[in-house]
Amino acid sequence: MHVLVVEDDPGIATPLVGVLERAGFSASHVATGREALAADPGDLVLLDLGLPDMDGVDVCRRLRERSAVPIIVVTARGDEVDRVVGLEVGADDYVVKPFGKRELVARIRAVLRRTGGAASTPDEHDETADRTVVGSLVVDRRAHRVLVADAEVALTPTEFDLLELLARDPGAVVRRSEILDEVWDGEWYGPTRTIDVHVAALRRKLGDAGWIETVRGVGFRLAAVTDGP
Ligand code: CA
Repeated sequence: MHVLVVEDDPGIATPLVGVLERAGFSASHVATGREALAADPGDLVLLDLGLPDMDGVDVCRRLRERSAVPIIVVTARGDEVDRVVGLEVGADDYVVKPFGKRELVARIRAVLRRTGGAASTPDEHDETADRTVVGSLVVDRRAHRVLVADAEVALTPTEFDLLELLARDPGAVVRRSEILDEVWDGEWYGPTRTIDVHVAALRRKLGDAGWIETVRGVGFRLAAVTDGP
């Protein structure tokens, strides 16, 4: 699966290509609308709408005229009009800057599934990467769902990312710094208390505080909650 990244800011494009490659995609990068229209779109186009040479919406429309390639538009925060117009001219989904890398990869996989590229998405054949089962807790990455005792638990995207990170290695401590880096993309510069707030919300939603153990001064780990006394 090849992703074409259209983004004029190298400070965003370079790490983005790295994120995509670590997620199992191949990725190439162009910085202008003109280059985007000349490039091979690959299997999916990630299109920043704020481009230096052309209106990103026009780039989207022209890509769509010539190809059925899935397109995810990237818009600045709160730019509601861009989002709506992007979808109207044929984009399949949008992400809003600043976005988390896990959210982005999840969106890309979802769009590829929806548009029929599912058979060859990188994690498709890797059951263990798709699901983690710890006791009665199931973290389903493909479906972006969490179940406890077969009942779905509604989580916010941040809560899901946090739980998904802990579920990658149940029982292992995940450091606070790693959580900030993975879930908040290292973009959080305030007090790390924000982690505690989200952990508290997760524990509440999972129905038992025991699912997430605090390792004082270090971080958190996912633990199996056993039923009964
Ligand atoms: Ca831009």
